Amino acid sequence: MTKWLYNFGGLNTEGSAQMRDLLGGKGSNLAEMANLGLPVPPGFTISTDLCARYYKSDKSFPDTLKYQISTGLKHIESISGMKFGNPENPLLISVRSGSRASMPGMMDTVLNLGLNDKTSEGLALSTGDSRFAYDCYRRFIQMYGNVVLGVQHHEFEDLLNRAKENQGILLDNDLDTKGLQDLIANYKTLINERTNIQFPQDAEEQLWRAIRAVLDSWMNIRAVKYRKLYDIPDNWGTAVNIQAMVFGNMGEDCATGVAFTRDPSTGENKMYGEYLVNAQGEDVVAGIRTPQALTSTNNLKGNETDESSLNTEMPKLFDQLREVSRTLENHYRDMQDIEFTIQKGTLWILQTRAGKRTAAAAIQIAVDMVNEGVLDKQTAVSRVNPEALEQLLHPRLDPKAHRQVFVKGLPASPGAAAGKVAFSSDQAEDLASKGEAVILVRPETSPEDIHGMHAARAILTSRGGMTSHAAVVARGMGRPCITGALDLHINEKEGSLTAAGLVVSEGDLITIDGTKGEVLIGEVSTIEPEFTDAFATLMKWADQLRHMKVRANAETLSDATTARKFGAEGIGLCRTEHMFFESKRIVIVREMILSENKDGRRKALAKLLPIQKKDFVDLFEVMKGLPLTIRLLDPPLHEFLPHSETEIRGVAEAVHKSFDEVKYRVAKLHENNPMLGHRGCRLGITYPEIYEMQTRAIFEAAIEVENKNKFQAVGLEIMIPLVLSKKELEILTKTIEAVAEETLKEFGSMPNYIIGTMIELPRAAIKANELAECAEFFSFGTNDLTQTTLGISRDDAASFIDTYVRQGIFDQDPFTSLDQEGVGKLIESACKKSRLVAPNIKLGICGEHGGDPKSIHFFQKCGLDYVSCSPYRVPIARLAAAQAALQVDNNLSNES
Ligand code: ADP
Ligand code: MG
Ligand code: MG
Repeated sequence: MTKWLYNFGGLNTEGSAQMRDLLGGKGSNLAEMANLGLPVPPGFTISTDLCARYYKSDKSFPDTLKYQISTGLKHIESISGMKFGNPENPLLISVRSGSRASMPGMMDTVLNLGLNDKTSEGLALSTGDSRFAYDCYRRFIQMYGNVVLGVQHHEFEDLLNRAKENQGILLDNDLDTKGLQDLIANYKTLINERTNIQFPQDAEEQLWRAIRAVLDSWMNIRAVKYRKLYDIPDNWGTAVNIQAMVFGNMGEDCATGVAFTRDPSTGENKMYGEYLVNAQGEDVVAGIRTPQALTSTNNLKGNETDESSLNTEMPKLFDQLREVSRTLENHYRDMQDIEFTIQKGTLWILQTRAGKRTAAAAIQIAVDMVNEGVLDKQTAVSRVNPEALEQLLHPRLDPKAHRQVFVKGLPASPGAAAGKVAFSSDQAEDLASKGEAVILVRPETSPEDIHGMHAARAILTSRGGMTSHAAVVARGMGRPCITGALDLHINEKEGSLTAAGLVVSEGDLITIDGTKGEVLIGEVSTIEPEFTDAFATLMKWADQLRHMKVRANAETLSDATTARKFGAEGIGLCRTEHMFFESKRIVIVREMILSENKDGRRKALAKLLPIQKKDFVDLFEVMKGLPLTIRLLDPPLHEFLPHSETEIRGVAEAVHKSFDEVKYRVAKLHENNPMLGHRGCRLGITYPEIYEMQTRAIFEAAIEVENKNKFQAVGLEIMIPLVLSKKELEILTKTIEAVAEETLKEFGSMPNYIIGTMIELPRAAIKANELAECAEFFSFGTNDLTQTTLGISRDDAASFIDTYVRQGIFDQDPFTSLDQEGVGKLIESACKKSRLVAPNIKLGICGEHGGDPKSIHFFQKCGLDYVSCSPYRVPIARLAAAQAALQVDNNLSNES
């Protein structure tokens, strides 16, 4: 008989944290906590295998499940001493989703299941608290009605608000028994009107339908979207956790909350969190009431107040919670996010998971834990998501800038961003797709807002605390976020926000300072980021671990400087054409292109020589002897041509020709498909004088810098683009060598240099062994190699690439993350072939993919010597390269 169920609690816990794949994160951790002897309400977990089977078998259940569930319920009943569906002493349970990967709030959960007209009466009698009993029943009908029966959440909320108005009260908690009973009757009518069924009274039936609903929620739109966003496979499935209820809503000596073992924003080693008195778990997450801080010292608004906190109100329980927090963190050796409930002075733990955190916190925690002796450096380095570093590399608000505060809230996720106000997630997504910076403003967010939050630069909510949905998700996504801006009035219908007499309208610019919790009017200026000691330490460890070097793609002085600051170990791609596009130079370049003969071209090139030389001198100075790969002119001449009449007139004047003459030349040079046209080394073959000039500028610059800095040689690598045959390389190598000889004669010295080529055509990859005979290095130009292998123009892909990804033709945009199956195969075989011929050939990559962690793992497997990426991605690449090295080392040691 296949085992579908695993008990936890009492002396009979069958699962453990090791069984995460089978029991999901929540289930395996509940079992692990029970094993640790922590106070976990008893329950059982239905495995993810059942979910897989459910979807494969047309949503049917195996015959044996019914029996297994009845034994599972007996397990809970024997520990709790209560009976499911029995009015005498009713057992209430929660039915909770939970997959392998954490997907906070994406799937469904039902609380207080087992209540009906009879058991609620029984609960009132057995607890002597009818208000409590009907509060549970009211909550249950609402959650079940929404999750299982599909009645809209707001319809229940409307009825609830009306009930409060009738009694003239503000809080749900203040509804009395009579009010609750009336509300329950109204809820039932609502359900009957919307679904044509009576609210199910049979506990057994309730349970089965809830299990089904949880399984179905694996495929709900928001869960599917979330998995796409975070690369979680659809076939993992969710587990279903069924667990005895504990109650935080039995009065003022009860509470429910969330605790992080360290500060998820900064990483500070201090328990941190929030709770609500007399409430159930979903109240905290939904942000309906703004919760209190666990400790008064970490008052969330940052000022000393006498607001009550758990350590002052329930000091014993606070101490217990802190003890649990320490136990869990030591056990998992990672920061934990813990759900707890206090029922009449007893602490219960309902969930633990690795806490979501900002990049800054991730780094701080990883480094601290090494210093505390909890982690080794390897583990610390592998804990930080390289992509998340992006958050730290971006500018923050200039503290000196003028700031007009519109409204204040809680600093839920740090960082700053400016953008236009959008009131809904769809609107935010819409505006963002048009290239606008957007700030999403909502009363609170729910899992349905995931796409809008992702599209927005920052998020602002008027309700909710530091652990509300908005706060948790924003931190995970690295979006600045302010929650609980209680003075903010959102008038969605009129499209306006008001606070303290100020009005901001839809589409107006505001700035979110998530670090301070301040919303500012207009766009406030920013400054470059500074790096913490922890950041430097972690990067140092990463550098010690990695095998591949990391270089940057840079051609301007400022890019090269940034690259150095971020730790680039050289320039992997210096595109010389960028130096040609500047407004003054382009005139000379055009003059060169439009000359009909060599002489004319030489004249123009002579004017460019000193300018090019100066560019290189600057770069060599900044790079201080680090390797610097300079690519000779690559783009189609077409790109330099004048287009408008005014431009043509300008060129005509500059070259002393008639307008018509120039226009005729332009028409002649027009290309139908420039990307596959007169470009790359084809330029050097047809117009050798262009490469001659560039080579000369490079050599003269190198000599100048080497002479000036006496002993510092320039790490010169000359790269020939778009090669498809060895012959091309031979011809151009001769051109370069001839210039070298001339230079030597003229200056009496010559810098060391090597010549290599880009591999960016499939033929070049196929012929890599031949090319390796006359190249000292290869650099895989994965942008062009992707275009030419797939036959897709990157500039024209936007119209269909999303559809391709959605339909699963591509896993990911191949211009963002390398197509390992196709383009990757070419790279892999080119590496092997070339190394057979030239074991010491230097191999690198210089496309966008050089900064993409997934691709970097692949390049490590190919054994590349370096990756080169944009300057701002250098730290990301350094960390990813270290993680890739760790993985390769691990695999090797596992094999041996
Ligand atoms: P999510 O994944 O959305 O957090 P959970 O299954 O963790 O969903 O449950 C939602 C809320 O209900 C949480 O706050 C949780 O602590 C609370 N909860 C779940 N099961 C119980 C239970 N047996 N007793 C009391 N509260 C519970
Ligand atoms: Mg939870
Ligand atoms: Mg290219």
